[in-house]
Amino acid sequence: TDPAQYIRDTIRTVPDWPKPGVQFRDITPVLQDPRSFRVLIDLFVYRYMRQRLDLVAGIDARGFIVGSVLAYELNLGFVPVRKQGKLPFRTVAEEYALEYGNATVEMHTDSVRPGQRVLLIDDLIATGGTMMAASRLLQRLGANVAEAAAIIDLPDLGGSKAVRESGLPVYTVCAFE
Ligand code: IMP
Repeated sequence: TDPAQYIRDTIRTVPDWPKPGVQFRDITPVLQDPRSFRVLIDLFVYRYMRQRLDLVAGIDARGFIVGSVLAYELNLGFVPVRKQGKLPFRTVAEEYALEYGNATVEMHTDSVRPGQRVLLIDDLIATGGTMMAASRLLQRLGANVAEAAAIIDLPDLGGSKAVRESGLPVYTVCAFE
C-alpha cells in the first residue's frame, strides 16, 4: 500500500473532542506502532534529505515529536516553537487569532542565525494560523523558512492554501476533507 495512505489509515478520528462537533485527528496510533512511525518519518526524510536545510523548527507539542526525530535523521539541529511562557531565555513572540480569542507562540532570540534555512513542522494544519505565526517569528529572527510541513491537512479550513498564498511552500502527508 501507499505509505501516505497507510499513515492516513492509522490516524484515529475522535468525534466531539475537545468540544461537540469537532472531529479530532489523533496521531498517537501512528507514533505507537513502530512500522507506521518509521514510515511517517521516512516520508519526511526522503523529501528533505536532498534539500539544503540548516535547522528544523517544531511547533509545540506534537511538532516536537516528529520534528526532533526528523532533525536527528537529517543531521540537523532542532529548535522549539513554544506556547507562551515556557521558554526560559530571551524570547520573541507572535500573537495570532483563534476561533475564540488569541494565542501566542514564542522562540528564543538566539534559536536561529540570520540566513539559516529552516524547515517548520507540526502535526496538522487547520486554519494555518499557527504555522503562519511561527513563520513570522522565524522571519523576524532572519531565517529563511524553506517549507511548512505537517502530517495532516484539513483543506476545507483553507489553512494550507492561506499559508501557500503567504509565500511559504506547504507539504502535508495526507488530508481529511
Ligand atoms: P491552526 O492554527 O488553525 O492551523 O491549527 C493547527 C494547530 O492546532 C496545530 O498545532 C495542531 O496541533 C492543532 N490542531 C487543530 N486541530 C487538530 C486536530 O484535529 N488534531 C490534532 N491537532 C489539531
